[in-house]
Amino acid sequence: MKYDRILVRYGEISTKGRNRSKFTNKMKSNIKRLLADDQIQVEAQRDRMFIYLNGASFDDVKEKLVHVSGIQSFSPVVKTSQELDEVKAAALELVKKAMSGGTTFKVETRRADKTFPLDTHTLNHEIGGHVLRNTEQLTVDVRNPDLTLVVEVRKEAVYLSCETIAGAGGMPAGAAGKAVLLLSGGLDSPVAGYLMMKRGVEIEAVHFFSPPYTSERAKQKVIDLADALTKYGGQIRLHIVPFTSIQETIHKQVPENYTMTSTRRIMMRIADRIREQTGSLAIVTGESLGQVASQTMESMAAINDVTNTPVLRPLIASDKLDIMEIARKIGTHDISILPFEDCCTIFTPAAPKTRPKTEKVQYFESFLDFNPLIEQAVRDTETIMLPKKEAEIEDLL
Ligand code: ATP
Ligand code: MG
Repeated sequence: MKYDRILVRYGEISTKGRNRSKFTNKMKSNIKRLLADDQIQVEAQRDRMFIYLNGASFDDVKEKLVHVSGIQSFSPVVKTSQELDEVKAAALELVKKAMSGGTTFKVETRRADKTFPLDTHTLNHEIGGHVLRNTEQLTVDVRNPDLTLVVEVRKEAVYLSCETIAGAGGMPAGAAGKAVLLLSGGLDSPVAGYLMMKRGVEIEAVHFFSPPYTSERAKQKVIDLADALTKYGGQIRLHIVPFTSIQETIHKQVPENYTMTSTRRIMMRIADRIREQTGSLAIVTGESLGQVASQTMESMAAINDVTNTPVLRPLIASDKLDIMEIARKIGTHDISILPFEDCCTIFTPAAPKTRPKTEKVQYFESFLDFNPLIEQAVRDTETIMLPKKEAEIEDLL
């Protein structure tokens, strides 16, 4: 017997009231895009979703589905009619197939269709008895079974499953609107992006790139990071902003210990322009309090001074080790630790100001009009749509 469909249970979506369909439709389109397989169909109902495999392999789909935000859990299921003999036969076959190594099982029936003539107790016995009679080594253990067969009796059909796989939780990517993610090549910002995606935020990634100080491989690294994030349910547009002339100008214009503060302020101004252009609502960074000079509260205040846009910092209270653990889990760690420097590392002064004063950096910047440079950088920004096939990315480089 082959599983022919997957039953998907919603997580937090199920606490939503009137606009629930907005969330379920978003999740449905995320799943469809991710699976990218014409034979697979997705049907979103009010309290659950069905993915019809139509011959596709459950294991392949499962690998992708575990990452999709908004899913509480999912199970591969077999559908039968309400005919008891048919249910029993399917149950026997499923238990035989799913039992690997163990010897005990139990049947757990849920009766959504209250008009069904047998109650759950009787159904458990009928189905369990049939399995026992037709197998040799199996016994029933209701407290601690090796395998639980879940039988769900609904009006339209009966669904049987032996396996429940935990989903990623959270909300469907894109359901909460869009934000601009400042994506460096480091460990933190991809994790920050992942956490926001998990809360339903669609990401427009922005990366500041300073050739020839930073290499094409540093750029490829950021493309790979953004691409790795797309498996959490959404498409990502990556905006690569040419930043060389701005960094050189800051270097000439601003005293060395304030160059980092000023660089971050200009990044913020450009990100805010891209936010406006893309209809995004906030800016996300990978900052974590006290991690480096630019991440003191004084520093964040001086950087934040250039905009009223909400700046979201999902990692602000996280420890580096915890961030690294998430990075490993989501598959960005090994890309992030590749040794290609991003623009900030290269221009970082020996002794950046850890407690910069906003008035001072404003004063240093006041000798030059950065607006034309900012406009130019925004105009020359290159945008890449992800996920993309390898060949297409190579063409871009
Ligand atoms: P990360 O690990 O994300 O690089 P970090 O610990 O290196 O962070 P900083 O270099 O102070 O910290 O950068 C703080 C944040 O500023 C980053 O998390 C990222 O959101 C943003 N940022 C830094 N450099 C760039 C860049 N070249 N392009 C886009 N965003 C950047
Ligand atoms: Mg960094």
